Amino acid sequence: MPKAPRESSNVPTELAILPLQDGVLFPNTVMPMAVTKQWGIKLVEDALKAGVPVGVVALKDRDASPPGPDDVHLVGTVAIIQKMIKVPDGTLRCIISGTVPFRIDEFSQAQPYLAAHVEQLEEITPESDELTALSRNLAGQYTRLLGYLPSAPKELELEVNNISDPNLLSYFVASTMRLDVGDKQAVLEERNTLERLKMLTAYLSRELDVLELGHKIQTDIQKEMDKNQREYYLRQQLKAIQDELGETDPTQADIKDLREKIEAAKMPEDANKAAMRELDRLGKIPSASPEYSVIRTYLDWLVTLPWSVTTQDSLDIEEARKILDEDHYDLEKVKDRILEYLAVRKLKNTLSGPILCFVGPPGVGKTSLGKSIARAMGRKFVRLSVGGVRDEAEIRGHRRTYIGAMPGSFIRAIRDAGSANPLIMIDEIDKVGADFRGDPSSALLEVLDPEQNNTFRDHYLDLPFDLSRVLFIATANQLDTVQPPLRDRMEIISLAGYTQAEKIMIARKYLIPKQLAANGLTSKKCRLMTDAVAEIAGNYTREAGVRNLEREIATIFRKVARKVASNPKFTAVVTAKNVSEYLGKQRFFAEVAKRTASMGVATGLAVTSVGGDILFVESTIMPGSGKLTLTGQLGDVMKESAQAALSFLRSRSEELGLDKDYFSKHDVHIHVPAGAVPKDGPSAGVAMATSLASAMLNKKVDSGVAMTGEVTLTGQVLPIGGVKEKVLAARRAGIKHVILPLRNEADVIEDVPPEVRKAMKFTYADELSQVLKAALGEKLISPAVVVNGRRNGNKLPAAARR
Ligand code: ADP
Repeated sequence: MPKAPRESSNVPTELAILPLQDGVLFPNTVMPMAVTKQWGIKLVEDALKAGVPVGVVALKDRDASPPGPDDVHLVGTVAIIQKMIKVPDGTLRCIISGTVPFRIDEFSQAQPYLAAHVEQLEEITPESDELTALSRNLAGQYTRLLGYLPSAPKELELEVNNISDPNLLSYFVASTMRLDVGDKQAVLEERNTLERLKMLTAYLSRELDVLELGHKIQTDIQKEMDKNQREYYLRQQLKAIQDELGETDPTQADIKDLREKIEAAKMPEDANKAAMRELDRLGKIPSASPEYSVIRTYLDWLVTLPWSVTTQDSLDIEEARKILDEDHYDLEKVKDRILEYLAVRKLKNTLSGPILCFVGPPGVGKTSLGKSIARAMGRKFVRLSVGGVRDEAEIRGHRRTYIGAMPGSFIRAIRDAGSANPLIMIDEIDKVGADFRGDPSSALLEVLDPEQNNTFRDHYLDLPFDLSRVLFIATANQLDTVQPPLRDRMEIISLAGYTQAEKIMIARKYLIPKQLAANGLTSKKCRLMTDAVAEIAGNYTREAGVRNLEREIATIFRKVARKVASNPKFTAVVTAKNVSEYLGKQRFFAEVAKRTASMGVATGLAVTSVGGDILFVESTIMPGSGKLTLTGQLGDVMKESAQAALSFLRSRSEELGLDKDYFSKHDVHIHVPAGAVPKDGPSAGVAMATSLASAMLNKKVDSGVAMTGEVTLTGQVLPIGGVKEKVLAARRAGIKHVILPLRNEADVIEDVPPEVRKAMKFTYADELSQVLKAALGEKLISPAVVVNGRRNGNKLPAAARR
């Protein structure tokens, strides 16, 4: 495109001025242009006719039409019209070629087109190394620029490297690069070649920067797109392969399946929304990502929960009575209270109110009562043990952000029940712990609170679930360790344990038929005689309930079943005599006599988590200096009652016939085996005092006697709890005589079954003096009744009757 050498000489002094709307014409360059306006067409035609060049200048304001003298730049390029074509619409297309730069000195004509007196401008080009360097640099930059413009014609690169004249180079570069009209005009007006080159270098590097940045953005995007495209492509291929193999895309099938399940689950609105939202997310992530399985599991939980599945309650009290009787022997009081509870619920037409809590040792039928209630009401039954739970998250679940997170035990129980209104039996509510992981009992409180549990929020689900439709029943072995706020919520029903006779009845009526059926036997094939049951209950098990009894019966039946299986004619009759053939040697012995054969041992009665039990209190006196040692994992209350017992005996040392300095010359050691089991409570006070007195006086305690009662410093005997459990335990241990606080007499009459009352002797004591008399066989000290501030040594209180 560079033109032939400059034709500087023959430039006329006056030229027609052709304004360019967009752009600047540079010397030695050609440019196509369209001429549409009438004055323009006339100008071109006149010039061609006269064979003269025209002066091309840039317009300051591209919209000025027709342009006046003020609308054009004063510096331009002389141009020859190389070619002209008339287009059918009357306008012209020309190719003009720039020759030399000029400046307008004075306008000579304004109509029909501009004309002016002009002066040719010279190039100021002082030769220097800098000029050469700038030229080369400009050419190099220009080549780099072309590298970023793949659509630019290849010739440009050749051209730029072939131009040696710095002026031509500058015009060539300026005419072919992207520049504003203003910038281009500035290049043209700069007469000093060196400066012009510098100016262009600056423009070029700015342009290069922009292009480089654009290129970087472009490649980054390209890379990202390539990656996505690659993945998309591979996925499509995978799909094609799966289609070919007849395997459908698991993700899509999954999502479709889940959508149907969500719709079928009929969740409340907010749960449904959450489920749909998660489903949407699921569709957007690859099934191999860990996130996928997290969401998948969550949705599985949501759809399996019985949001809207409930069972219809039947609150027919007569029917309930029948079912309770069918499943349980006796327990009349308990059944009555359950029926009352149900009746109130029926009348009030609500389930809110206190929660039933069955308290009693293992195997007394707490769980099976719960099952019967569920059966009577037509509800699903689930058991949920909170024993040993220390972490609140067990109850409430872990947040979904944890790996392997799951809902808490209540939501799991609901899922297991498959109905939103099951009967949930909360087992071992007395054994919830608390530590740094939060307090599970506060979460339990929330679950059990009718005010709050209709919007129970599990951490995992993170959605409210209505637990108010659930009937909760709690069980505990002991009441003492149930946290007070929980206890407040509950209506306590105690099941103390069974007597030998009751156990035999339960076995005959319930356990034997149940276990026969469970082992595929009939009463014809195997007869378990009553004396055998008595033998098992007495000598093979020692428990308040009937759990082990049932287990032993099952063992016998299993053994019989095995024999019947190998010989169908085989029948068995199990009596007290041949029980040992099935169960081995007798496991429990009446050890009381043996244990209390030495001085200083008294038999106490206690209530533990497995029901009532006997315990032995041992005391030894040895020469020393008056120290008291207590061992056997005793709690503070028990230690204090030992001290109180000792102090009381010291205060009566004279009466007991002990030397004045007896206590300063002897050490006392009290031990309560078994040492590994922690024990506490005040009710062993009388047994401790008796054991101490026995050791001090060298008198054996009657081995047929067991005792319970709290003792005060003044020797009074205070009432205790768990009377029925304790009496039954004494009976199990073969004890015939029980010493109890006087104020517990009513409990014995009310709670202890008549056959036990008849078979045993009871001594009710108000004072330690009476206890010692009954246990050690003779009157040792006088009662401590205080009359008018003086101890009345002779008069026995009226209450000391049996
Ligand atoms: P818990 O929950 O109190 O530990 P379970 O309910 O598990 O005790 O009872 C243990 C077994 O003893 C069960 O098979 C139960 O049916 C049976 N059982 C307990 N008490 C009675 C009773 N009064 N009548 C009939 N069966 C009983």
